[in-house]
Amino acid sequence: MRIFTASFATETNTFSPVPTDRASFEMAFYAAPGEHPETPTLCSAPMVVLRKRAREEGFELIEGSATWAEPGGLLQRQAYEGLRDEILGQLRAAMPVDGVILGLHGAMVAQGYDDCEGDLLERIREIVGPGILIASELDPHSHLTAKRVKNANILAAFLEFPHTDFYERGEHVVDLALRALKGEIKPVISTFDCRMIGVYPTSREPMRSFVDRMQAMQGKDGVLSVSLIHGFMAGDVPELGTQVMVVTDNDPAKGTKLAETLGMELFALRGTTAMPMLGTEAGLDAAVALAAKKPGKPVVVADVWDNPGGGVAGDGTLILRRIIERGIDNVAVATIWDPIAVTFCLAAGEGAQIQLRFGGKAGPDGGAPIDAHVEVVKAVEEGWQSFGKSRVTLGPAAVVRLEGTDIEVILNTNRTQTFEPDIFSNLGINPQSKDILLVKSTNHFHAGFEPVAAEIIYIDAGAPYPSNPKKTNYRKLVREIWPRVDMPF
Ligand SMILES: [Zn+2]
Repeated sequence: MRIFTASFATETNTFSPVPTDRASFEMAFYAAPGEHPETPTLCSAPMVVLRKRAREEGFELIEGSATWAEPGGLLQRQAYEGLRDEILGQLRAAMPVDGVILGLHGAMVAQGYDDCEGDLLERIREIVGPGILIASELDPHSHLTAKRVKNANILAAFLEFPHTDFYERGEHVVDLALRALKGEIKPVISTFDCRMIGVYPTSREPMRSFVDRMQAMQGKDGVLSVSLIHGFMAGDVPELGTQVMVVTDNDPAKGTKLAETLGMELFALRGTTAMPMLGTEAGLDAAVALAAKKPGKPVVVADVWDNPGGGVAGDGTLILRRIIERGIDNVAVATIWDPIAVTFCLAAGEGAQIQLRFGGKAGPDGGAPIDAHVEVVKAVEEGWQSFGKSRVTLGPAAVVRLEGTDIEVILNTNRTQTFEPDIFSNLGINPQSKDILLVKSTNHFHAGFEPVAAEIIYIDAGAPYPSNPKKTNYRKLVREIWPRVDMPF
């Protein structure tokens, strides 16, 4: 038995000012065939799982490229076609194969391609023919298009948000694929369009129970897999929105019914699933009040909508500016994206005191740049942080301390959201010594920071992510979905 695997992933925020190109992939993660590390990345877990299963079971695994770009703006056409054709060429060279198992994200949009993954799957289907199994793991923050469902046999998304289960869901996809290849099951995908878009963290109710129930349905009564495609509201494509996806053992009627039942249950929960968020002033008031109680742990403040993980630049200054103006001290910030400022810090060297302009450069929505006299506390060729089992680079990075304060800011070159507290400690900042940690993340930071935080406060600073679908100026999304209309059904 011969199986081909590859991973090609990013999440495209079509409203972002930061273009995505080939260099964006090479900077974040690029592994040529055979060079994927033993640790999985968010979207390449199937490759790592397949290696293990191939060793145990003796089938032949042919690895293609595996690559990931930090979420950003529209992907350049040549970069998309180049990486796509690279993988298709590897598949052609590997033929004949019995199965293709991919690690995709599902929210990639390129110039001229609203549905990159659908395009890739369709071309793969053309190469392998109708009888060959095609399976993929997906991120739930994706678009589920008819073209993808038509050209794949098995699709399953991470269930958890934060995505703590990306490796386990990779195991799930690979396991179903191998069972199908052995003739034990005949997977069929059924979907239901919930005609809504929302934020569905599973770190809290009501989604915790909802996802636990979905999980419990798998592996029983012919139901092989249940996924919720959350959708991705910053990707302006026709099929934007939330969908339920059920894979049954050749029982599409049952799959369709279950998907609809779960989908309508979720629709009834609309507007109740997101974490409570405060405005900037109220959030900082709460953080200061909590820190004043000296809880012995930092108060973690999440800048929910300046999250590079959602494709924005991540150079927003709205909350930090108010921290400075209000005289709030003993704060550490992870991170502000500013390659120019990092270059200046590396040139000046550790210990240097310089006048520095940082942040707020990519566009008008994240706030104006901050001009400050700073000490370069740290300047390194590469900063990094953990994300579960994987390691995420910050690229060249610096820590600056604002003069006359204990406000320390991490500046990075490789855009990334904040995942784990070691983003601070790896650069010499003791997160436990700070009153307030300001992180850039919607919810992925939660798993790592919850154990070290006195409290977590979510601040909606109102920008730069298009977080209010009622107001976002979509051009390609023309279907009626909640909350753009009250009742889409
Ligand atoms: Zn996601």
